Amino acid sequence: MNCFQCEAGQMISKLSTLKAEVRGESIAVRCRAMVCSRCGFQVLTDPQSSAYAIASADVYRIKHDLLTTKQLKEIRSNLNMSFREFAKYLKVSEASPKRWEAGLVQDDAMDELIRLKADLPTARENVKQLKSRLRVA
Ligand SMILES: [Zn+2]
Repeated sequence: MNCFQCEAGQMISKLSTLKAEVRGESIAVRCRAMVCSRCGFQVLTDPQSSAYAIASADVYRIKHDLLTTKQLKEIRSNLNMSFREFAKYLKVSEASPKRWEAGLVQDDAMDELIRLKADLPTARENVKQLKSRLRVA
């Protein structure tokens, strides 16, 4: 693939430091990008763009002590819930947990609610009730 900018260089996949803006805050993210061998012009492929969104969100989350994508996935997986079940459990739209795991930063109140509801003894009881309600519905 030739560079769109200088039209002479080759675009090569490289680990790069990119800037991102999350909730109005400028952050630096390490992730893969296609970089021109000649002029340094950078573009992201679709998969790189998805990884960049998650990496940017996680830099912000770590800085602000919020659950990361990996932790959110672990919580949902420990509760053995689908996106739909997890969304019902938190009383949010089904799209929300999908968006969080794709790199949209959850708000602070939601982060706290997830932590509280992921507390295992409480969670087990809640899950039992939810599953029986879903079976009835
Ligand atoms: Zn170039």
